Amino acid sequence: MLKISYLQRLNMSKKVIQEAAREFVCFVNKGPSPYHVVDECKSRLLSAGFTELRERDSWSIDPLGKYFVINNFSTIIAFAVGGKFKPGNGFSIVGAHTDSPCLKVKPRSCRTKYGYVGVGVQCYGGGIWHTWFDRDLKLAGRAMVKKDGGLVHRLVHIDEPILRVPNICIHLQRDHNDKFGPNKETHIIPVLATTAQEKLEGIPSGAAKGALCSHHPPMLQWLLSNQLNCKPDDILDFELFLADHQPATLGGALKEFIFAPRIDNLMNCYTGLQGLVQSMDSLPDDKNVRMLCLYDNEEVGSTSTQGAQSSITEWILRRISAGGSPVAFEEAIPKSLVVSADQAHAIHPNYPEKHEVNHQPMLHEGVVLKFNANQRYATTAITASILREVASRCGVPLQDVAVRNDSACGSTIGPIISAELGVRTVDIGTPQLSMHSIREMSCTSGVHQATMLYKEFYKSFPEIDDSLTAA
Ligand SMILES: [Zn+2]
Repeated sequence: MLKISYLQRLNMSKKVIQEAAREFVCFVNKGPSPYHVVDECKSRLLSAGFTELRERDSWSIDPLGKYFVINNFSTIIAFAVGGKFKPGNGFSIVGAHTDSPCLKVKPRSCRTKYGYVGVGVQCYGGGIWHTWFDRDLKLAGRAMVKKDGGLVHRLVHIDEPILRVPNICIHLQRDHNDKFGPNKETHIIPVLATTAQEKLEGIPSGAAKGALCSHHPPMLQWLLSNQLNCKPDDILDFELFLADHQPATLGGALKEFIFAPRIDNLMNCYTGLQGLVQSMDSLPDDKNVRMLCLYDNEEVGSTSTQGAQSSITEWILRRISAGGSPVAFEEAIPKSLVVSADQAHAIHPNYPEKHEVNHQPMLHEGVVLKFNANQRYATTAITASILREVASRCGVPLQDVAVRNDSACGSTIGPIISAELGVRTVDIGTPQLSMHSIREMSCTSGVHQATMLYKEFYKSFPEIDDSLTAA
């Protein structure tokens, strides 16, 4: 019998693939900051029948129960308990990250000069910073607001093109195309307004006199208080990120690409969530706990309260394992697997020499298994084999990647969680281009493929793991 290639099947199900990709695009547009990503995941989980647990409360975990925990409003851990689960059984975990490289407003951001109202920003993570020039930028994040004597956590999303980092024109820097290397302190200061227009309109008259009075441009305080519908003095502090105002979209002549900010790593936040929610049919027969861990701060090394290196994962796993033997948690770990899901570099048509000759992942050709002899990825022959078996059961193609020996290798949450918990881990991701640009590029089929793969992983991992033996 002739084997139907994935591309042929892709053609047959283009409608399904595009629908999945369109829904992903909506997810990206709703997630301009990690807080918004977590909030969107929360509302999707609530609609799917999950219940929120607070870390500070005592928990009662039941078989077939579906729960989620939020930490710092920027990390979310969701789990669904198999119908046959008992303490000491394993965890089937998909992990990804909610943050992306971006510009973050400084704690004191007044940078008004030469008639421009500038906003001082910090560079968060390893962005391709030149791509932030000449983009229409918006602001999103969170603020702490005083209300009725209490402190309230509020999301902020000023969805207007209010900021811009202007390029230097080529006439004043003739070698611009050869040597554009912006200084991150002096050249990346977004402009919010001019002092002339401010004076003309007199807008910031209500600027704060309290905690933040001299910390930020009055215009910024005015925008924020308008957005939050509060007095500027009531804003105690905030964490605000700049984001591309242009919405994510499908693109290319055949609408086969995704042009979007933050594909790394909202792709795996979204597909992990979809995989978990869509796997619920088989939950009654599962002896494991199915878990989705979406962490903040991967782009800056994962060492934070809410990062992948935090103890929160262990504490949550221990609480779920409680009630059986005193060493139920230690028994559960060797029965568990983490699928560390983060984006992979597709081969670039204009820089093909950057990829190793036998490891050149292509768009549409499948989810990428990541290997690195120096443990920048945690994949082993055992964990790769488990994933290959999962992929073959659901018909999702896999590709392999390993970097050239003369190239640096990225890393992700996989090796961190693997070492912290002593848990088997496989590093994977879908292929994309322009990683860490303000606007990245991926393929529509990646959404569907990753969703199918995670769904099958949740369903099949315990059975595949039970079949593992040593000769
Ligand atoms: Zn990433």
